[in-house]
Amino acid sequence: MKLIFEKGRPGRVGISLPDCDVPEKRIEELIPRDSLRSKLNLPEVSEVEVVRHYTKLSTRNYGIDTGFYPLGSCTMKYNPKVNEEIAKLPGFKSLHPLQNEKLAQGALELMSHLEQILCEITGMDGFTLQPAAGAHGELAGLMMVKACFEHKKEKRTKIIVPDSSHGTNPASASLCGYESITVKSNERGTVDLKELKKVLNEDVACFMLTNPNTLGLFEEEILEISALAHNKRTLIYCDGANMNALLGMARPGDMGFDIIHLNLHKTFSTPHGGGGPGSGPVGVKKSLIPFLPRPSIRKEKDKYRLDYDSPLSIGRIKSFYGNFSVLVKAYAYLRALGPEGLREVAENAVLNANYLMEKLKSYYHLPFDRICMHEFVLSGKRQLEKGVYTNDIAKRLLDYGFHAPTIYFPLIVSEAIMIEPTETESKETLDEFAEAMIKIAKEAEENPELVKTSPHPSAEGGRSRLDAVTAARKPNLRWK
Ligand SMILES: *Cc1c(COP(=O)(O)O)cnc(C)c1O
Repeated sequence: MKLIFEKGRPGRVGISLPDCDVPEKRIEELIPRDSLRSKLNLPEVSEVEVVRHYTKLSTRNYGIDTGFYPLGSCTMKYNPKVNEEIAKLPGFKSLHPLQNEKLAQGALELMSHLEQILCEITGMDGFTLQPAAGAHGELAGLMMVKACFEHKKEKRTKIIVPDSSHGTNPASASLCGYESITVKSNERGTVDLKELKKVLNEDVACFMLTNPNTLGLFEEEILEISALAHNKRTLIYCDGANMNALLGMARPGDMGFDIIHLNLHKTFSTPHGGGGPGSGPVGVKKSLIPFLPRPSIRKEKDKYRLDYDSPLSIGRIKSFYGNFSVLVKAYAYLRALGPEGLREVAENAVLNANYLMEKLKSYYHLPFDRICMHEFVLSGKRQLEKGVYTNDIAKRLLDYGFHAPTIYFPLIVSEAIMIEPTETESKETLDEFAEAMIKIAKEAEENPELVKTSPHPSAEGGRSRLDAVTAARKPNLRWK
């Protein structure tokens, strides 16, 4: 496919205007010379060429709107288009972020009500909507942990993370100046309490945990874990990026968590990937409310206002009030589903994952054979005996027209294949995917070369294998 610059011809334009019927002025008289660019390097193409070029490019991509996307760890589900329409209503879209509070009462009410709903879902006492992503929420959460211990004049230097944790957890810890310590998982795939006791002491500011954890398993000993942590006055943080497993079923606040971040772009109706905008609200228990970022939203005598008066606050962590359009979509999604609808989200997320896991477990090694939550982890180690790597299995899925799941993560499972079907998929889609996975398992037995050389350009996916090493060393960004 040619670049749009290569399609251009000198003088070709997208629109033709009628002759000017008022006296012309030179552009140099209207705009200061030093603000003028001497030559704009733009492709010279007609309107239809532009439309075809970009429409073609869009079909070269793969997304949730074109097919199943079973990405483990990072929910890639379908988001209702109606919520995009609601976020585009002029009253939301055209509201200036510096608008006077009195003239932005509707927006403030929406944000305040969203905070209340998130408190109810998670069992927390206060929320900030400022962070722009999950990792940003983690950073905000740990900054509050730090501010809290500094306020108490206690020196704590360490953060504990499980060996299955999402990479952003230790990264946020170190960005916040903490040393991170890893705690091992037991043979059931959950936190090993004996190991936890070994590393938990009064140097530890916070234990960051995901429940369900990164293997898609519920941490059944969570009450003991939070009691152990609180016994040392260590705070516990819930990485709530994947809340679709718990909605309306269980609340991290009731499990003893002190802080949680959510990913609105994953769980609450904003697509994720592609660079944003996203939103990672953070919820806290009462004792941490004074440290929340400012401004916060207050309601006084039926009027909403922004409150900057919180001396212990960690301050502002994002321009304005967070990514407002994402908040609108989350609010519309939550109000449309209501409590029963949210519960159904979790029921279907968990049902779909268990259904697929049961269908696949006699063909692929299942390291933790127990009921999973919204996702599960297989290992390609049986296929590796035939020289077929998990990477090859993922590539072969492209031949069958599917996006590959997350592979080689979490790190504690060798040849990991991490699958999250999500609640938005039908049984027929899950069956088609299972059928492709089963076919690949058989091919790995009977014709390993076929899998190892995939994807094949003649197959449904129409892709060939990239030379990943050369692509990394000498990137060639042209499409030939
Ligand atoms: C996606 C994810 C994150 C990070 O969220 P970003 O918005 O990508 O920064 C953190 N933890 C878990 C478990 C996740 O799935």
